[in-house]
Amino acid sequence: MNTHEPKRHSMTGRTHTDESKEKMRLAKLGKRLSDDHKAKISESKTGVYRDTFSDEWIENLSKAKSGDKNPMSGKHHSDETKKKISEQKIGKPRTPETIAKIAESKRIKSSEKMACMHCGKSVATNMMKRWHGDKCKMNLTTGK
Ligand SMILES: [Zn+2]
Repeated sequence: MNTHEPKRHSMTGRTHTDESKEKMRLAKLGKRLSDDHKAKISESKTGVYRDTFSDEWIENLSKAKSGDKNPMSGKHHSDETKKKISEQKIGKPRTPETIAKIAESKRIKSSEKMACMHCGKSVATNMMKRWHGDKCKMNLTTGK
């Protein structure tokens, strides 16, 4: 029995009988919630909370923020602003790690296809990593 379920289902249009009310009362009396039970309730509440982010709700949010209510509505960044934003980005110090990541992502995005050394198929480099090369099903050296 889970009293924390949304009440849109089975109880619609019905009422608890006195008997079942009494049972519920007794069930609650004298019972302390274990930590485990509390965690479960907390979990289920988290779930319910997430449920409220329905498509409809998100749409409403988006409507509320668009149009006249959006401070950017009808405005565009001026060239000056764009320049400032761009300068800010340029001015950010990049760690060697960041630079490597950017270089890697550029390399993958702009990658040409390459031939798999095992099956000879021509595949994009990022696909090569996932499906070919050492992982190629034609690669017999892995012993699979
Ligand atoms: Zn292959």
